[in-house]
Amino acid sequence: MRMTATSDAATQAIELLTALVRVDSINPMGRPRSARYPVERKAIEVIEDWLTPYRHRLTLERQSCSPEHENLVIRLAGLSDRPVGLFEAHLDTVPADDWAERALCPVLDGEDLVGRGACDDKGSVVAMVLALTRLVETDTVPPRPIVLVCAGDEEYAQTGIKHFRTALREEIGYGIFGEPTRLHPVVQHKGTIRWDLTVHGASAHTSRPELGFNAVLGMVQVIAALGRYQEKLQREWRNPYMTGPLVTVTMIHGGRTRNATPDECTIAIDFRVLPDMNPDSEKNALIDYLSEVTDLRITHGANQLMTPPLNTNPASPFCERVLAACRQVAGDGIELRGAPYGTDAAWVSDLCPAVVLGPGDIASAHAVDERISIREVVDAAKIYQRIMLDLHTL
Ligand SMILES: [Zn+2]
Repeated sequence: MRMTATSDAATQAIELLTALVRVDSINPMGRPRSARYPVERKAIEVIEDWLTPYRHRLTLERQSCSPEHENLVIRLAGLSDRPVGLFEAHLDTVPADDWAERALCPVLDGEDLVGRGACDDKGSVVAMVLALTRLVETDTVPPRPIVLVCAGDEEYAQTGIKHFRTALREEIGYGIFGEPTRLHPVVQHKGTIRWDLTVHGASAHTSRPELGFNAVLGMVQVIAALGRYQEKLQREWRNPYMTGPLVTVTMIHGGRTRNATPDECTIAIDFRVLPDMNPDSEKNALIDYLSEVTDLRITHGANQLMTPPLNTNPASPFCERVLAACRQVAGDGIELRGAPYGTDAAWVSDLCPAVVLGPGDIASAHAVDERISIREVVDAAKIYQRIMLDLHTL
């Protein structure tokens, strides 16, 4: 039986995605790992093998980001050497401890492929690779060079995109970052900053607590003040695409023994800011607020993490044309959106206009029985290909 062009694309998508899900590229997320090769190596080898018939037109480069992480950078020359079109999706996945026995055994369930990483983010990787290979198969030269980064370590410290940026040789014209957005272009997302805050007290025997100062009780005041601060920020800052700023206490520790007032209490803060806000200056403003509304002795740790927000102008010609490409393939229901989570896009969005756009539903990412619709992967490949060919005048 002769297959149609569509089913041919679906067959290719299933084949490459199955091969990628089957290999372990689980990010240790800071935990110890016994393997002596980078987390992404096996997935990179799968893509390198897949690209063997296309090597005459593509340049492949493994980029070592750290002893643990690696990128694969694939380049396709264009008609001109204008600023490149950047496509990026990540090869690492979150762990699958709660369904380990089947997470790396991909299966088809109707039109969905199920397995760890199918949706986040190997479906996007597959769609980008297939968009590129389709250009080679049809002898099409895009108007500008295309750089596809299959990145490492998105899920933990983003060393992949940060290293790519440091090693960057080309000027970037635009960036498309594949993450599960159901094919809606995400133009803005929040930024995040995390650090530890400690209230200092003084220990005393619990029979004479008035001789010390209970740091846990001091922390109760701080947590209440953080709640009021979040309300204030939510009144002052709004964004049509997403909920307001969020200050969340995620961990708490205080006290040393059961019979002394605690001399220290520490919390971990996760602070999510809107696209117009700067994470570092918002941290400083929060610190100032606490020193105004309490007279506690408080110290603040260094940033455990800072990821910038994404703040692309939705009215820009870039966004209009990306949206048009999505609608041509996936219908008029596609709209520009925002997201409450962070992505690698934020790390280059000061260099070029960038959107997050890919197949799959974020609700399935990081979940048990993670899945992706193969039809959406095929549609994403068509959208990426249109963008590769159409966005030449930006
Ligand atoms: Zn992801």
